[in-house]
Parts: sequence; structure tokens; C-alpha cells
Amino acid sequence: VGIIVQKYGGSSVSDAVSIQRVARRIVDAARAGSQVAVVVSAMGDTTDELMDLANQVSPNPPGREMDMLLTAGERISMALLAMAIHDLGYEARSFTGSQAGLITDAIHGAARIIDFTPGRIQEALGDGAIPIVAGFQGVSRETKDVTTLGRGGSDTTAVALAAAVGADVCEIFTDVDGVFSADPRVVPRASKVSHITYEEMMELAAAGAKVLHLRCVEYGRRFAIPIHVRSSFSRNPGTWVTSAKALKEDGVEQPIISGVAADMNDAKVTVVGVPDKPGEAAAIFRVLADANVNLDMIVQNVSGPSKERTDVTFTCSKPDVARAMQALLDARDEIGFENLASDEDIAKISLVGAGMRSHPGVSATFFSALAEADVNVEMISTSEIRISVVTRAADAKRGLQAVHTAFGLDGDDEAVVYAGSGR
Ligand code: ASP
Ligand code: MG
Repeated sequence: VGIIVQKYGGSSVSDAVSIQRVARRIVDAARAGSQVAVVVSAMGDTTDELMDLANQVSPNPPGREMDMLLTAGERISMALLAMAIHDLGYEARSFTGSQAGLITDAIHGAARIIDFTPGRIQEALGDGAIPIVAGFQGVSRETKDVTTLGRGGSDTTAVALAAAVGADVCEIFTDVDGVFSADPRVVPRASKVSHITYEEMMELAAAGAKVLHLRCVEYGRRFAIPIHVRSSFSRNPGTWVTSAKALKEDGVEQPIISGVAADMNDAKVTVVGVPDKPGEAAAIFRVLADANVNLDMIVQNVSGPSKERTDVTFTCSKPDVARAMQALLDARDEIGFENLASDEDIAKISLVGAGMRSHPGVSATFFSALAEADVNVEMISTSEIRISVVTRAADAKRGLQAVHTAFGLDGDDEAVVYAGSGR
């Protein structure tokens, strides 16, 4: 028998009836002969509600206490799920992340997994019990405090557990039928992608597609764990995320473009009137690095008529803007720029597909589609398998839809979104 890791997201366990439904699905997999280990998220919008509550109590809660609070959400769902499984005649044992052996660094709210020692999980499996592991949490090796992996981190728990116990597959159960060519909540005619490579999925996740946590895909690639993203509300096959080699071996024909995504979480900052001489960019980006600001796109504009000064524009996530501006202001004399401006009213639209490496004309189609939709492009960046542009936030939806249609990604039917408040 093989081992399967199944992960159920918050919208799949939002109430008592849903928890019983998920329990039946887990038991079905066990009955079919697999050893099943489960990772579960907090019920429904519990995590958001706990965060709201914390913010009502305190404007700036300490990270340690925030993690202690948020991990409670998963403790509730894991225990309830274990009870429901017991009622179906199977033994289930719930474990916190710490009990399950998920060891992290000490960064509260964004901890990284440094080890997974799944002794108790293996013991449970060996006893014929179904282990239920609380998602997105672990314990710091250094401080022994409870940590969380960041929002949406249960996916990463699941893939890490799959790697630690040598599972054949990690099934991620969610409220849509898999990975879509665009977010079905934004582009109703988005179509399901049956296979996608880790690399493309990582680009899509980084470009703002919310279906999988970026780090879970990185983990899957590192340990070659096939990830099957599917709905807990239907029995339909979902999306397989695997290596390009595995796809080839299975004879799967890959499309040129696998999907488009929009990200509304970035802002752009322009450093105006930077002296046009060597070392200026280095000074700007050193200051930003020291302030721990993660940059995405960078553009240096052509120097003005005087040819002595230029503008440098970059994007970073909205919560980092204030810190970036302050760090630059503090270094203003040293860098010698004239002004600073920030703009949070932007969106990033990205097109992802491994086929663009070998197919000419992809950029032409992309930019024509945006032009026809009357979307102005403010910045451009590319990787081998992605093109991204910055546009006005108000244009994002229209642009995304136009690009989706231009690449023939529209499906015949509207995609089904089964649940979730989209919060
Ligand atoms: N419950 C956590 C969150 O909402 C973790 C997860 O769902 O993956 O972010
Ligand atoms: Mg959640």
C-alpha cells in the first residue's frame, strides 16, 4: 500500500456537516487500501476572525502571541475531524504541528521549515490510525515557541509531510476543481488545467494565483512530490503539478500558455531625479535591502533632456511601501535624489507558460490584447516562462479577461466555485 497525504482547506471544513463529509472522504481513501495522513486548515474564516479579534485587543500584537492565537484555529478543526472519523469506525489521532515534528526557524508569522521528524505520524500510520496534522504551524528549534508558516501555509505543511513520510502523492483539496487558467472568481470562463509543471505553478503562484501556496510548490519540486489539486466538493480529477520530465513520460502534451494571473498587492515607488552616474542604483538598492524590502520589478527611465538625472521605479508589496520610503528618505543626502513618489493604485498582470520559450509571437499577442482592451502598460518584466506588466488597478480585470481570451484559454462553460467567502 502507498501513502497518501490529503490536505483540506478552510472552506472544505467550514461547519460540522462539512467536517463529516470530509471525514467520509478520508475514510473512503483508507478503505481503498492507502495509508492516509491528513493536514487540515482552520474552519472557514477562523484565521481572519482571530486576526480581527487580536487587532481589536491590540494595535500591534507581539508575533509570538499572534502565532499562539492563530494556531488555535487548526487545533479546533483537527480535533473535530478526528472525532468525525472515529464515528465512521476508524481510528484517527490529531497532532499539532509541533507534535507532528514540524520544526521551523524562529520567525513568527513567516517561519521556514528546517526539519520534519514525523516519528509520531509514522507510529500512528503503523498502528493503522489516521493522523490528522494541524496545518501551517510548527515549533522553533531555537526558541521552542509555536510558529506559523504564513497565510495559506497549510499547503506547505502537507507537501512537507508528504516528503517526510515518503508519500506517493499529496492531494490538496480545495473549493475549486483544480488550478485554472485564471482565477474563476475574476474570469468566469477560466478552464481547468489538467497538468502543469512545478516551474509554471511557481510562476503562477508568485504572480498572484491564490490556489497554491508558493512554498508548497517549491517544496514539491525539491522532493519530487506529485501534487494533485482537486475539489473536496466533487469527485472530478483535478490538476497534477509535477516535473516536466514526468509529464513527458506520461505523454502529456503541454499547452503554450498555462494561465494568467493578476496581483493587486503591489505598489510602485519612484525615486525621482537620481544623478545619472555609476553607483546610484547600487546605493538605492543597498538601502532597500538593508530595510528588508523585497523588490519585484525595477525600471530605470531614460535620462531627461538635461541628461544628468534619471528616475528609478520599482514595485514592492504594499505593506513594505512605508518602510521603503522611510529608508530612502533617510539616505536622501547620500543618494542625492530629488523626490520620492508612491502609487498603490496598480495591478500586475502576468502570463505564464513553458511554451513561450519556443513559440515566437507570444509577446505580440499579449500586448495587442492589452492594447485592444485599452489597458495602458506602465512597466514590463519577463522571465523565461512569464511576462508581467504593471497597469492601473482599475484596468486589471479587463486586461486579464482580454489576455485570457486572446490566448484561447476561455472554456465552454463557466467554472464552478463550490464554496469559500474569498476572504
Ligand atoms: N488557516 C491558515 C490561513 O487561513 C492557514 C491555511 O489556511 O493554510 O491562512
Ligand atoms: Mg484558510
